[in-house]
Amino acid sequence: MGRRKKIVQECETLMDDPEHIRNIAIAAHVDHGKTTLTDNLLAGAGMISDDTAGEQLAMDTEEDEQERGITIDAANVSMTHEYEDQNHLINLIDTPGHVDFGGDVTRAMRAVDGALVVVDAVEGAMPQTETVLRQALREGVKPTLFINKVDRLISELQEGPEEMQERLLAVIQDVNELIRGMTEEMDDIEDWTVSVEEGTVGFGSALYKWGVSMPSMQRTGMDFGEIMELERNDKRQELHERTPLSDVVLDMVCEHFPNPVDAQPMRVPRIWRGDAESELAEDMRLVNEDGEVVLMVTDIGVDPHAGEIAAGRVFSGTLEKGQELYVSGTAGKNRIQSVGIYMGGEREEVDRVPAGNIAAVTGLKDAIAGSTVSSAEMTPFESIEHISEPVITKS
Ligand code: GDP
Repeated sequence: MGRRKKIVQECETLMDDPEHIRNIAIAAHVDHGKTTLTDNLLAGAGMISDDTAGEQLAMDTEEDEQERGITIDAANVSMTHEYEDQNHLINLIDTPGHVDFGGDVTRAMRAVDGALVVVDAVEGAMPQTETVLRQALREGVKPTLFINKVDRLISELQEGPEEMQERLLAVIQDVNELIRGMTEEMDDIEDWTVSVEEGTVGFGSALYKWGVSMPSMQRTGMDFGEIMELERNDKRQELHERTPLSDVVLDMVCEHFPNPVDAQPMRVPRIWRGDAESELAEDMRLVNEDGEVVLMVTDIGVDPHAGEIAAGRVFSGTLEKGQELYVSGTAGKNRIQSVGIYMGGEREEVDRVPAGNIAAVTGLKDAIAGSTVSSAEMTPFESIEHISEPVITKS
């Protein structure tokens, strides 16, 4: 069986196990390394060929995947990752890197429960870092932090350990100040500041594919001194092999982002103002795959063969081909022609997509990004507000 087919099968098995699902977004100020990091995660999960993994993986990978190489477009992608002997399904939604797409970033946040915020170690938190944090927190999406381009501090700026530590701590402090400022008024959000000790901060280099966190250092026995030594001596391949970025980040995702069962009870009242006592509210809070179908459409894409594809988060029930569903704001119903998940940027049809997952659906001709699609008529989700942003010119 091809690697891709195998991953699809693994995803299908895990789809019914919401406790082991993580719906996440990666968000960053432009050029801080979101795309490079995403490619690392896809390669680490075996979704695309990893240059450095050599012949073995390349031969193991289907031909089309090799051709697709590392330039793959990861709009939405599902992958699996083993953490503490348990396989996890990670649904990753890409957020556009440019400020013009602010509205899309907010929509992506509606579909996920965790946001990995990437910050360039040299530049520190920038205006768009603040915007993505605001978008995440307002949607009840938990942040973690990855400080990227640490290789530059070591090899280019030749910083010593103390200087580097100071700089990294300053970045963390800035991010935490932003988080504190944004969550002060939100009484339903606990302390969501990030912390090295707790493992909600990672450091590393997406370019050279290595990463560390407090838990990873404990696991690998590597300390910062050794990492600096290897980086400075251009032993980046060794660094990558001994402390691969994808493992560090995906472990952090599994450990610290809430699964849908933990997230939905907090998120649903935040994004839906319908009757909290109703059965529907209960189905959404419990991620009940046998409940009424509720899909929040966050994106409409176009596939040259299948036409318009609606992507979104299934909050309740199970999506299946042939279902006739209401689309908020329109009369009548639309019939679902196919349901699928995203694998390496491509849609893969499956029989059903249960609550807690991100689905790709065809046939919802009246749906737009922001539509609530449901088997019973219901109060739609709150509209997704666009957060206006300062104009940032790319340096
Ligand atoms: P995005 O706009 O956030 O998606 O950023 P990209 O992933 O496209 O990266 C922007 C630039 O930074 C590219 O030239 C990357 O090669 C470079 N870059 C990304 N990560 C790193 C890193 O860890 N170290 C260094 N030195 N450069 C990086």
